[in-house]
Amino acid sequence: RFITLEGGEGAGKSTQLRALAAALRDAGLEVVETREPGGSEGAEAIRALLLTGGADRWSARAEALLFAAARADHVEKTIRPALERGAWVLSDRFLDSSRAYQGQGALSDADILALHRIGSDGFLPDRTVLLMLPEEEAAGRAKARDGEVSDRIGGRASDFHRAVADAFARFATQEPERFRSIDAAGPAEAVTARLMAALADLLP
Ligand code: C5P
Repeated sequence: RFITLEGGEGAGKSTQLRALAAALRDAGLEVVETREPGGSEGAEAIRALLLTGGADRWSARAEALLFAAARADHVEKTIRPALERGAWVLSDRFLDSSRAYQGQGALSDADILALHRIGSDGFLPDRTVLLMLPEEEAAGRAKARDGEVSDRIGGRASDFHRAVADAFARFATQEPERFRSIDAAGPAEAVTARLMAALADLLP
């Protein structure tokens, strides 16, 4: 099974991905944890290009193409081989992040989906869980965390983050079979329990 976690910065995706992986391993499953941008050698190299040099380094179209190229490599080299040997693959962000972020720029949702069709045959997760957190709480969590992405986060206004959150919510409404939205507020263990419930129908 291929599961993706989506949501804005500071929603707790990486913490929850680790907790979910541990729970699935306890249930006897082989689990591969991965993330975007990145997740394969080539895609990690593209990640370094995308996340350094400031928010204005790339034109909007070039950025969308780089994300699609990274994803193509990630799907072919990491995700598909793992699924073929029966592992569960958990990805911290995937296509829907491109739809939400790169979709704010020069390209429409249809364009982003077209790039994904070209790059990755339109390959989709079995389930996408959207971690929903009120803006103030997410901003506080993201600020409390250091790292390579801070200049990107700092460079973007709250209007942008609101538009991203709205876009994710819209995708979830459009594809209710694939998406589940969960409340990401409160203790991490409670969020993990909601996450497991959102995958219950897929578990063996
Ligand atoms: O929250 P996370 O650490 O995954 O964020 C990575 C950074 O990359 C964030 O600043 C996010 O806005 C950005 N990003 C993006 N487009 C994507 C995926 C991530 O702009 N498709």
